[in-house]
Amino acid sequence: TRLNQKPVFTRAPAFGDKLAILDSNGTHSYKQLYCSSLGLAGRIKTALNSNCGELGGKRISFLCANDASYTVAQWAAWMSGGTAVPLFPKHPESELEYIISDSQSSLLVAGHPYAKTLEPLARRLGLPCLTLPPTSDLSTLYGADTQEKEKEDITDWADRPAMIIYTSGTTGRPKGVLHTHSSIQAMIQCLVSEWAWSRDDVILHVLPLHHVHGIVNKLLCPLWVGATCVMLPEFQPQKDLYNLMAVKVDGKLMVSGSAALPLPTLQRWEEITGHTLLERYGMTEIGMALSNPLKGPRNPGAVGLPLPTVDVRIVMNNTINTTIVEGNHSETQVRPGLEGKEGELLVRGPSVFTEYWNKPQETQESFTEDGWFKTGDTAVYRDGVYWIMGRTSVDIIKSGGYKISALEVERHLLAHPGILDVAVIGAPDATWGQRVTAVVQLRKGQSMTLEKLKTWARKHMVPYTIPTGLLLVDELPRNQMGKVNKKDLLRHFFP
Ligand code: ATP
Ligand code: MG
Repeated sequence: TRLNQKPVFTRAPAFGDKLAILDSNGTHSYKQLYCSSLGLAGRIKTALNSNCGELGGKRISFLCANDASYTVAQWAAWMSGGTAVPLFPKHPESELEYIISDSQSSLLVAGHPYAKTLEPLARRLGLPCLTLPPTSDLSTLYGADTQEKEKEDITDWADRPAMIIYTSGTTGRPKGVLHTHSSIQAMIQCLVSEWAWSRDDVILHVLPLHHVHGIVNKLLCPLWVGATCVMLPEFQPQKDLYNLMAVKVDGKLMVSGSAALPLPTLQRWEEITGHTLLERYGMTEIGMALSNPLKGPRNPGAVGLPLPTVDVRIVMNNTINTTIVEGNHSETQVRPGLEGKEGELLVRGPSVFTEYWNKPQETQESFTEDGWFKTGDTAVYRDGVYWIMGRTSVDIIKSGGYKISALEVERHLLAHPGILDVAVIGAPDATWGQRVTAVVQLRKGQSMTLEKLKTWARKHMVPYTIPTGLLLVDELPRNQMGKVNKKDLLRHFFP
């Protein structure tokens, strides 16, 4: 089935005066967003001397706050035929420079108030830099040619590059993941149907916008259906929880992902908001792949079933010949005798990325010969749903012949009243291969010894999964997406 592969902005004129985005500067209708984007697209083309033609996929890096300017920059990049590369305000300058250089961007767009961040970088790298006004003044971008255009310069959208999104950098330097308009559209349409997005929806958007969850799930999906996004500059738990209380009245969907959802968080959230969080599994490379259902039971700790159009496999030892599980949205088959066995999760489908930008070898290594993407995550199919056990490289601890999921141990330990945060790693061990080791941040005023932890754990955990090592830290090092780089942690403690 061929999807509608036109980018989101092509639907905006039809939504006209409907409210698209409400940000701290005011309201922005679909038509206003569209016209501002067209105006900016014209300026981008002029700056790149490409007034008559389109940009042929040239990269445009943009740094915008969580407001309407982000959408204007992204749409303008697409309208001009460019590839959008979103930057993140919290990235230090070195990271911004890495992404701009690595993506070989031709032009920078600085949303308000980031001109002072990007202009020095642009000068140093010899790149043109366009700056945007505060979103209250976006209409100053309208140009002579920003009447709604009937005619589109570009018609064959499907295989054109749309975005380079950088991975979170949890296991190494962030990699640029190239998505075409068709893979982005596949992600959008899958979620629009599964999570039942509609024009009447209002979404509270407080997520980073350089990451697939914030970009696709929470912005492009609502804009595709003509819904309204309330965009806040950043998540302020005190204030935003108040908003969530308001949502409690008629809120329909609250989602968690990007890392395992701790059970105590799930439970506490339910107490506060009256909602069961929907956990899903996804990656920069594939968008969302597995999801608990919008309606029907959600298993705490599981990630549900493949989304429509997503095929999955669980395989042993990285090879396709030892497929344990083969599944899609409607059915799952388990090879007899291999029930409950875990293995690497492979994914196939129209939302899978094209390539790691400028990294042909990594790209090749991440696919099987017959075209399945190797996620690097270990999964298991049990009780009719899929469970993520963690990254094969660091989260699957092999100790004395057992394979232990660091994520499962973390889930248990987070229920300990004294533990605020924890990362479980496999410390090298001469006898056991690896030792389950908990790196723990305690709650204020708490103390802990390994013996005390073990005593508690014996009441709650399977014996061989109980930590035999404890390291106390003031704070766990987390990256911009809130994830712990366990390779760094291992290097730090066991050099
Ligand atoms: P990098 O690829 O640069 O090391 P990253 O893998 O953290 O960083 P992302 O693409 O943002 O970059 O994250 C995808 C990863 O996040 C998945 O491979 C998986 O390990 C983890 N993940 C996502 N959702 C879940 C979930 N629901 N449960 C457990 N892990 C999850
Ligand atoms: Mg990754």
